Amino acid sequence: MFIPSPSPASPEETAAWIFLFDQTGLVIDPETGQVPILKPYQAKALARNGLYPFGTLYGTPCCCGTLVDSLPESGLSIFELREFYRSAEEALRLAIACGRFIADLHTNAHFCGRCGTLTQIMEKDHGRVCPACGFHAYPRISPAVIMSVTRGDEILLARGTRFPKREMFSVLAGFTAPGETLEESVAREVYEETRIRVKNVQYVKSQPWPFPDSLMIGFTADYESGKINIDPKEIIEAQWFKVDQLPLIPDRYTLSGQMIRDFRMKQNK
Ligand SMILES: [Zn+2]
Repeated sequence: MFIPSPSPASPEETAAWIFLFDQTGLVIDPETGQVPILKPYQAKALARNGLYPFGTLYGTPCCCGTLVDSLPESGLSIFELREFYRSAEEALRLAIACGRFIADLHTNAHFCGRCGTLTQIMEKDHGRVCPACGFHAYPRISPAVIMSVTRGDEILLARGTRFPKREMFSVLAGFTAPGETLEESVAREVYEETRIRVKNVQYVKSQPWPFPDSLMIGFTADYESGKINIDPKEIIEAQWFKVDQLPLIPDRYTLSGQMIRDFRMKQNK
């Protein structure tokens, strides 16, 4: 189980899971195939801007940081983050997401975005504050909506231009625009990508998605009107699929994969 800590408690001398990130990778211990467990001082030289406590995973403290430019001789190695995340269990995935958001904050807001002064760590929250102008920086979390749009026993799925597997179909998704409610984002994204109008937009569940800083927020919606007419910049193909004729869909660890399976389960009841 992963329990995030709401405040950056002072680093302890006890051994901790050390989550060190670079742009696309995570440091692992090749002997265990896991995130290394070290005393924070043993890992300090590997972190560019320090190590930050952020909770406990299976009762052991967690620290995160951004890896120095190249991994020094340490017996550790870098593993592709997405690949590691895919095979990790739920608690570890949540810890990875939390660690990534917090490590990125301390690197990206190391200097004040408003006046350029070196910022300081906040005592009570995961954040940084500028001693010169008072600007506060918090972990960046970008909300993205993801929606299961259905019409009777059919679900609207699309192949995106950026999918790693070109033959895979997924539910539609997109980032929330400034000033929008989540429900408005759902309706707008579906309309922009397929020219379909939806109604009855209902929240289902969410998932932190650390690639690099999203929170995926899942909804269901009912078809209202329109014929599929795709935006070719975003989508290669979109179709209504009957529950018993689903194409290749995303893995179960993704919210999209879970929502399509939820639809199938509900239909097959
Ligand atoms: Zn400032």
